[in-house]
Amino acid sequence: MSDKPERHEFQAEVRQLLDLMVHSLYSDKDIFLRELISNASDALDKRRFEALTQTELAADELGITLTADAEARTLTIADTGIGMSRDEVVKNIGTIAKSGTKEFLAALGTTAETKRPELIGQFGVGFYSAFMVADRIELVTRRAGTSDPAHAVKWVSTGDGAYTIEDATRDHAGTTITLHLKPADAEHGMRDYATDAVLRDIVKKYSDFVSYPIKLGDDTLNSMKAIWDRPKAEVSEQEYKDFYRHIAHDWTDPLRTIPIRMEGTIEAYALLYIPSKAPFDLYSHEMKRGVQLYVKRVFVMDECKELMPPHLRFVKGVVDAHDLSLNVSREILQKDRQIAVIRKQLVKKVFATLEEVKRDKFEEEYLELWAQFGPVLKEGLAQYEAQDKDKLLELVIAHSTHEGSKLVSLDDYVGRMKEGQDAIYFLNAPSLEAAKKSPLLETFRAKGYEVLLFSDPIDEFWLEQAPKFKDKQLVSIGRGDVALGTEEEREKTKAEIDEKQKELGDLLAALRVSLADDVKEVRLSSRLTTSAACLVADEHDLSPRLQKMLERAGQTMPQTKPVLELNPNHALVGKLKSVFAESPADPRVPLFAKLLLGQAHLADSGQLPDPAGFSEALADVMLRAV
Ligand code: ADP
Ligand code: MG
Repeated sequence: MSDKPERHEFQAEVRQLLDLMVHSLYSDKDIFLRELISNASDALDKRRFEALTQTELAADELGITLTADAEARTLTIADTGIGMSRDEVVKNIGTIAKSGTKEFLAALGTTAETKRPELIGQFGVGFYSAFMVADRIELVTRRAGTSDPAHAVKWVSTGDGAYTIEDATRDHAGTTITLHLKPADAEHGMRDYATDAVLRDIVKKYSDFVSYPIKLGDDTLNSMKAIWDRPKAEVSEQEYKDFYRHIAHDWTDPLRTIPIRMEGTIEAYALLYIPSKAPFDLYSHEMKRGVQLYVKRVFVMDECKELMPPHLRFVKGVVDAHDLSLNVSREILQKDRQIAVIRKQLVKKVFATLEEVKRDKFEEEYLELWAQFGPVLKEGLAQYEAQDKDKLLELVIAHSTHEGSKLVSLDDYVGRMKEGQDAIYFLNAPSLEAAKKSPLLETFRAKGYEVLLFSDPIDEFWLEQAPKFKDKQLVSIGRGDVALGTEEEREKTKAEIDEKQKELGDLLAALRVSLADDVKEVRLSSRLTTSAACLVADEHDLSPRLQKMLERAGQTMPQTKPVLELNPNHALVGKLKSVFAESPADPRVPLFAKLLLGQAHLADSGQLPDPAGFSEALADVMLRAV
């Protein structure tokens, strides 16, 4: 052992990194403190762990102390953690072994010079980030377990490619890091880190839940109250609620609290909440997504969207992944296998909870939950690549023709399906009122088939994808042909329609010509019992509503027209037939055609595409009638 400072060159990679830190243009330099406190907390964890078997290590009170000296412009971060031996200092601080930093350097190589500062924010890069704010760093450390105070080491560097290391004394085990601060420079994101208020602010933001006290003078700056890794039985309902308020900024109580522990190959703790009310910005792009990521109680990022799919974005909470590096970037998160495993677990638990609410508290809670978050859950069904579709379908509830105002699930529906029925029938309409009054329901009602009624805009999108629930196809009653009843009945209906079609062939052809600008086809229908006409979408066409929505969203589409279906048994159609038979050129034929189409539009959406034209035709017909 020598008492003269020994000069060491940094490893080449470290030099590269230091150079970047010293000249850093990264605008949020506060993160250096998060990094140093996290190192201290790790060191304290190690000491606590070793003390379990080596009781002589248990002596000191475990904690972190910050000391700011405004005059000397120094900030000191001291911990009573495990400390380092001389060899450990050389190895840990002088070289780069961590994978996170290696990835950082790899990213550095492929990033344009001007974009490099941002990388620091994404990766953090540990101890070295202190060189963003300090032009000289001294570290004095003594490994726990050595009884001689002279067994301490002092490491000093100005970040210029070399450091010195020498013997030192330290009364207790642990590490003290003294930063000689650069001048504050608000313009470049450098606050005055020798100011108590600034330190308080940063600790609150990044290190509030670190489980050791972080002291500044007599004050403890952090709450230490991370409740996510405490056993459920030890946490009161009130504590869970308070924590929800803290992270969600929501003053209503959450509907459900879901503590999750993962131990084994992956160690992670999570505390998730299902809110009872949707936030006002649930459908805004700017909405704050709900899950925060911590690594061993140190805050890493807000809105970690890698942990929760968009259709569960209303779930709030924290996830603490113990094996992740603090320096994790979004890019890494996206590919990280651990994150994928954790996310899967979280999603599973959330679904289990939603299913439980639906099963056990349908009236009391699920109806409201669905009102708040149903449309968001249905977004998952509309997303081609989304997973969980079967689970989402289990959660879906909708109005139905079965019982006026009650919402029913697909399971309820399937349980009531008629003998021989192989599809789940639904109707999509602009509003529930329009759905209930739709002429498309007539035959279904008459024959006793239940129809689900959807009216959320999002319904157009997911139902359009022809989903299946438990092998049963969901079929729109407003599209293509419908055939109800037994094989025999279907054939009979078809034969009747074919017969009538022949009978009315010339009239239908004339109507097709007269309405060519507005409809794709005019044909007879077996859907109607009391109404004269209805509109449907052709088998493979987009529904008219979806088309309108996509157009409004700025997409240009080939114009598809609806099909006009007429009820062959309706008196109006009969009347039209005889007028046409008498004189195919009768001016009333195109007028009737226009009015029938208008009626069909009104029944479909409550709106007329051409109100003036409809009025005119109506006035004309009235004049002829009197
Ligand atoms: P990381 O924390 O991701 O390993 P850092 O650059 O932050 O990377 O720290 C490098 C290493 O230096 C740590 O892994 C640890 O071994 C050592 N170290 C840093 N600070 C302390 C400390 N306060 N007490 C003990 N060891 C420390
Ligand atoms: Mg670290």
